[in-house]
Amino acid sequence: MKLPLVYYGDPGLRGQAEPVTDFDDKLLALSRDMVETMHAESGIGLAGPQIGVSRRIFVMEIPAELDEDEQGNRMNPDLEGPLVVINPELSSLTPEKEEMEEGCLSIPDVRGKVRRPVSVTLRFQDVEGKWREMRLHHLAARCALHETDHLNGVLFVDLLSQVKRVAIKGKLRKLKDQTLQS
Ligand SMILES: [Zn+2]
Repeated sequence: MKLPLVYYGDPGLRGQAEPVTDFDDKLLALSRDMVETMHAESGIGLAGPQIGVSRRIFVMEIPAELDEDEQGNRMNPDLEGPLVVINPELSSLTPEKEEMEEGCLSIPDVRGKVRRPVSVTLRFQDVEGKWREMRLHHLAARCALHETDHLNGVLFVDLLSQVKRVAIKGKLRKLKDQTLQS
C-alpha cells in the first residue's frame, strides 16, 4: 500500500525519531509499504518521518545505473534491490567529501548541492532484528546520510550554502504554508 507523504513544514519532519523495538509483522508490513511508496514516488530513499512514522527506519534503493564508476563497475556491488534499514548507526565517515545535487520527496521542486563524506560505514538491523554492517560509497553513502538525517529531524536544505538557502527561502515558505493549510 502506498502511504501518503508528509511535506516540508510538518513538525513531524523536525522531531527525533524513536528506535524500533518490535520486530513483528507490523514492521514487515510497514517496510513493504515504505518500499512501495518509494517506488511510486520515484525516490531512492524514504525515511519513517516522511510518512508520519517517528521511528528509526528508512528504505533505500540505488538504481544500478547510478552506482557505476567511469569503467561501468558497480561502486556498491552488495546493494541489490531495496534495502530496509532499522536503527541505523553511521561511523568511519571519510574526511574526503564530495558535492552532489540532492532533492527530497518531502520538499518537492527544491534541489541543491550538498557536501557529504564519500564513504561511510552503516550498521543497522534488518526486519528480523539481525544486525548487519556494510561500507557504502558515493551516492549510496549520501543516501544513507540523508535518510539518517531525517531520523534526527535534519533536512538537506539545512546543509545548503547560505547563498542557496536565501535563494530558496520563498519556495520553502510557500511549501510550509501549503502544508500547514492542508
Ligand atoms: Zn529526504
